[in-house]
Amino acid sequence: MTPVETASRLGPVLAFRPVPGRAEMPGNVPGTAPAEERILLSPPHLTGTEPTALQAALHSGWIAPAGPMPTAFEEAIAEATGFEQVLATTTGTAALHLGYRLLGVAPGDEVWTSTLTFIATIAPAVQMGAVPRFLDVSEESWTLDPARLERELARAARRGRLPRVVVPVDLFGQCCDLDTIAALCERWGVPVLCDSAAALGATQRGRHAGRGARLAAFSFNGNKIITTGGGGALASDDARLIERARMLATQAKEPAPHYQHETTGFTYGLSALLAAVGLAQLPALAERVAARRAIFARYREALGDLPGIGFMPEPGWGRANRWLSVALFTPRSGAPEREAVRRRLAALDIESRPVWKPLHLQPAFRDAPRSGGAIAAQLFETGLCLPSGSGLTPAQQARVTAAIRKEAGG
Ligand SMILES: *Cc1c(COP(=O)(O)O)cnc(C)c1O
Repeated sequence: MTPVETASRLGPVLAFRPVPGRAEMPGNVPGTAPAEERILLSPPHLTGTEPTALQAALHSGWIAPAGPMPTAFEEAIAEATGFEQVLATTTGTAALHLGYRLLGVAPGDEVWTSTLTFIATIAPAVQMGAVPRFLDVSEESWTLDPARLERELARAARRGRLPRVVVPVDLFGQCCDLDTIAALCERWGVPVLCDSAAALGATQRGRHAGRGARLAAFSFNGNKIITTGGGGALASDDARLIERARMLATQAKEPAPHYQHETTGFTYGLSALLAAVGLAQLPALAERVAARRAIFARYREALGDLPGIGFMPEPGWGRANRWLSVALFTPRSGAPEREAVRRRLAALDIESRPVWKPLHLQPAFRDAPRSGGAIAAQLFETGLCLPSGSGLTPAQQARVTAAIRKEAGG
């Protein structure tokens, strides 16, 4: 290709307005009526330093998934979370997959998780032949119920069939009761892999999300609080685990001049280009958490007086990053139906989404064993995730709350 041809192929890319919202929405063509901005659930929020970081990575020539950029990103994640060791991965799901592999998940093993989560939490384990068991959540935090876990572990020990791994989830950026869960699992010698994919910047009893688990997985997907466009991380305080994860993430190459393999691995290392984006994003974490928490507080202030409307609780032992603000609409207490609210918002070009459909209700897991599930099912019936991006302006948020008030007749 000639440089001219290259430039013309890049044309649409260069013309693309990358940040949705504000004055440059595609609908705002001169001479046409300005369309109301589409409000998304959780779009990427750029700091403005990403192009510089990307350019630095490109100029350095180090663009493979190795070298100084991924290392610097891993160190920055370790510093932000307090974990000793971090491996940057292609996705959060890849980090979970590596976690399952490190913990020796094999066909027929049981893997326990909270039923109220995204399918990515359990998908890699199921693909490895594990049998998922879905446990209900607590009313207090909507995360894995430790009391139920305690009963189920004792029962499983009597049956002689303890899970290979327990995978609590930090739901919508709210930490699970990890200290309690880790202590229970420790009693039975069951390792904990924490799905902290959406919980960067959240804390539990003063420690960062995932701390106290054997392994924790994070995501830098485009919708998360800090994003590399696509990316993830596996973290642990056990250096040997992360060292092995690093080996598995690079096709399980043994140290030798030729390609030597004692097992099979993956291509799961994060590209240096994306690591550069992450390095530009990460310093904004505290600001992003503050912004999302402020958005949650504004929703509560603007809607809290309406009958039958509630919000995701925050237990005393945790400080959520409020990745997504979740409201509950209970019709028998006078609120409109969740779906009526969602449809009204959609008609106004405002994106919202029901709370995760519990995994025990998913056709993919029709036959999976479970313990309870009624609390999660109720949250799915009534819970709606509202626009929560840290770039959401008060004016945009006022559009959301006005629409909800209108649907509620108040
Ligand atoms: C985003 C997310 C994942 C998956 O992360 P990816 O980077 O998209 O693979 C897993 N679990 C939860 C709870 C998530 O929110």
